Amino acid sequence: MKLIFEKSKRGRTGVSLPEMDVPVKSAIIPDNLLRGDTDLPEVGEIDIVRHYTELSKSNYGVDNGFYPLGSCTMKYNPKICEDASGFEGFLSAHPLSPLNQGCLRLMRDFENMLSEICGMARFTLQPSAGAHGELTGLMMAKAYFKDKNEDRSKIIILDSSHGTNPATTSMCGFIIEQVKSNEDGRVDIEALRAAMDKNVAALMITNPNTLGIFESNIKEICDIVHEQGGLVYMDGANMNACVGIVRPGDLGIDFLHLNLHKTFATPHGSGGPGAGPVGVSKDLVPFLPNPYVELEQNKYILKYSEKSVGKVRAFYGSFGVIARAYTYILAIGADGLKNVAENAVLNANYLKEKLKKHYKLPYDNICQHEFVLSDDGLPNDVTTLDIAKRLIDLGFYAPTIYFPLIVKGAMMIEPTETEPKEMLDAFIEAMIQIKNEAENEPDKLKNAPQNTPVSRLDAVHAARKPVLKHSACLC
Ligand SMILES: *Cc1c(COP(=O)(O)O)cnc(C)c1O
Repeated sequence: MKLIFEKSKRGRTGVSLPEMDVPVKSAIIPDNLLRGDTDLPEVGEIDIVRHYTELSKSNYGVDNGFYPLGSCTMKYNPKICEDASGFEGFLSAHPLSPLNQGCLRLMRDFENMLSEICGMARFTLQPSAGAHGELTGLMMAKAYFKDKNEDRSKIIILDSSHGTNPATTSMCGFIIEQVKSNEDGRVDIEALRAAMDKNVAALMITNPNTLGIFESNIKEICDIVHEQGGLVYMDGANMNACVGIVRPGDLGIDFLHLNLHKTFATPHGSGGPGAGPVGVSKDLVPFLPNPYVELEQNKYILKYSEKSVGKVRAFYGSFGVIARAYTYILAIGADGLKNVAENAVLNANYLKEKLKKHYKLPYDNICQHEFVLSDDGLPNDVTTLDIAKRLIDLGFYAPTIYFPLIVKGAMMIEPTETEPKEMLDAFIEAMIQIKNEAENEPDKLKNAPQNTPVSRLDAVHAARKPVLKHSACLC
């Protein structure tokens, strides 16, 4: 499609402004600081309406259709949450009026809800995403051991972990010690025991893990780490399988992040704004980011801890996102949260059982909210990439592909609880059709997608040598 700059015609305008009733040239601003021709696109109202309508139709989101992007929990975002976060009182609240009692109360109440759901002492709402939460968590671990005069330089990470785990570990100046998974896709307990010593600050573990399998030895895992004085950090991105059912704090987890844009139904915003609140057990509370909200003498106030790792985000976090997640929890209640986890797990197991007859399922367990298929053994050199591209032609978003790394040609499928059975059945049918095409008409897969503005992009080149400016863009 054309850029708005390419549609521009000199002199065309989409607005009608009243006549200027002040001097055109300001007496205060010197000539050399006045802006000249801005080269903004000049289009009529109909052009601009068509332009943005076309753009919106080129996009694909949960509001368009099924989005089984494993690990990302692309669930439906209820519109009541949008309405509540758009209340005038929230929109016009200024972050520099910190004694705004309504906003502070919302943050404190929300923190209490998350603490109750996870069995934690307190939460910080500041981090902007899961990865940012991990970084905040590791900064707190560092401050905690420094305070105890212990020099611990290593973090244990599992071979099934999300890429953000090693990234935040090294960003925080720790050394990574990798532990492998066993043949059922869970932590290899003996390998963990061998890796664990007094030099390890923390184990980072995702539970359910990225294969969608619950780490049923989690208590023993926590004991192994705690016996050596280490901490257990849970990457809580997969909490959609657990909310209302099991509390990480009760299992021995010391700190964790949640992804509000996953589990708590707020929109994923193409890199932001999201929110990755971090919960901590009692011992880590003094190290939480500053400031935190406290209720004293019937008044909500901001407080500062001396041992805090400091601020990790301007003001108080993504307030609009927090207001959406708060609305979500209030709207569905405790029973609703339990239903979320139960139905997320039910939907994933339904898909898994139907699809394992047609595709290889390397870890054949009862899964949690997601499961991972492999392209191993498909005919005619058909790969996971071909399947993902063909799904687009059939009207679906593709699953997460080639992650986790321990599965060959991984397809990580997460339906979420918000999809009705008819949609799951339609997806199963599409996957079976693709399997048949792989056998009989492989060109349909190799040449997919056919109905998108662009087909197969060179993803590596795009990441290494991005072209960030269109030649028609004059800015
Ligand atoms: C999504 C995800 C993350 C990172 O979260 P962001 O909010 O995208 O930064 C970390 N770990 C796992 C397992 C995830 O699925």
